[in-house]
Amino acid sequence: MAIARRGLVVALFPSLCLVFASQVLAQRTPLKPGLNSFTPQEDITLGKRAATDAEKQLPPCNAPKVDAYLTQLGTRLTQKLSTGGVQYPFEFHCVNDKAINAFALPGGYVFVNRGAIEAADNEAQLAAVLAHELSHVALRHGTNQATKAMVAETGLGIFGAVFGDSAGGALLTTLGNFTAGGVLLRYSRTAESQADVMGTQVLYDAGYDPRAMAQFFEKLEADSKGKNPPEFFSDHPNPEHRVGRVDEEVEKLGGVPPHAKRDSAEFEATKREVLALPVVKKTVPGVPGAVPAPPPPSRSLAEYQASAYALKYPNNWKKYLDSEGGGVSFAPEGGILDDGSGHSALAYGLIIGVAQAKGDANDEHALISATNQVIQDLQKSNPGMKITRQGEHLRLNGQPGLSTYLSNLSPAGGQETDWVVSVLRPEGLVYFVCVAPQSAYDNYDKTFSSILDTVRFAK
Ligand SMILES: [Zn+2]
Repeated sequence: MAIARRGLVVALFPSLCLVFASQVLAQRTPLKPGLNSFTPQEDITLGKRAATDAEKQLPPCNAPKVDAYLTQLGTRLTQKLSTGGVQYPFEFHCVNDKAINAFALPGGYVFVNRGAIEAADNEAQLAAVLAHELSHVALRHGTNQATKAMVAETGLGIFGAVFGDSAGGALLTTLGNFTAGGVLLRYSRTAESQADVMGTQVLYDAGYDPRAMAQFFEKLEADSKGKNPPEFFSDHPNPEHRVGRVDEEVEKLGGVPPHAKRDSAEFEATKREVLALPVVKKTVPGVPGAVPAPPPPSRSLAEYQASAYALKYPNNWKKYLDSEGGGVSFAPEGGILDDGSGHSALAYGLIIGVAQAKGDANDEHALISATNQVIQDLQKSNPGMKITRQGEHLRLNGQPGLSTYLSNLSPAGGQETDWVVSVLRPEGLVYFVCVAPQSAYDNYDKTFSSILDTVRFAK
């Protein structure tokens, strides 16, 4: 109830400002943050916590020059952003994700996907994306949404946890999700329209061609005709007459200034650098959210018989036969995730493959070189994959084998551990890749070992 009363006071405030602003600032549309029961300092606290979590979950571009460029461009825009006197600790991060998207957490933590940089035709269009995101921060749309959820009492439970004793850390840990259940980034169409309009003003004031805002949206729409709409529209729902509203604001601002900036050599250089970055497989489609962990492996076993070997695996895991190459995977329910581009990625389970290799089972050099080849091939399709431990010998069904540990980005978010066990057989190098997120690996270690213990090679 206290919230509702506080909201009334806040709600009166913008209308007073509106009258005042319209006298001072000629024609431009006045915009102010809406109902909010959080303080700007709470925006920063909550946003910071969520940003720390986001950094752990999202693959970074690992390109200091790109981050520096985003920061420089973003800072130029924040200087023209009306924050009502609040000093937000703006940060700009490049995310190695091909999806065209960007988001800003409360308090000014801005994340820009490489896909958004690649999709922009010039600096003004990228500036438009940033100006839009920064407007969400200045207008405090994240905590405004949260406030509305609280008032409607739908999100009360969730946000009670944020500001209760357990603080937001508990909330974020519980949900494993930097968007706090998506509430902070679930903008309304009205919020979107406001971010477009304020973003257009920021572009104009920073000396950019303000039409870039509309041009970027037009381009996104045209590019996605008949296809899945870009992710940007799922986080930033398309308000009606989006382009028309931006054009209208450009008119109110007095049209395009004669020397409006459109492009720069720095943008072109940054875009080239971004295009050359290694591609990282997307972890979770859409706004990364909590991925429920699969049920624990059953102690009852099922049998699998291939031509070269047989093994037993937990009977609550499913078997997936590779359509080509004779490989097979075993994974629990929820162990295989969509990598965001319609491709499946295994987050928990076991992959078995046979690679072409010649050599006697006891030929150590042949075993090592065939294993290295397989690992290089795995690294080609998993650019983030690194060897953490290698060259350890073991025996699998009495045969000499090699054990290699790797780390990789997990489709479930964060890092995963991949344990590769390889054995040379007449049919080639038979290799077993045991996969689980690093944080859950200890729970799977025993299961993987006991599956491997059941392996029987054909005589
Ligand atoms: Zn938006």
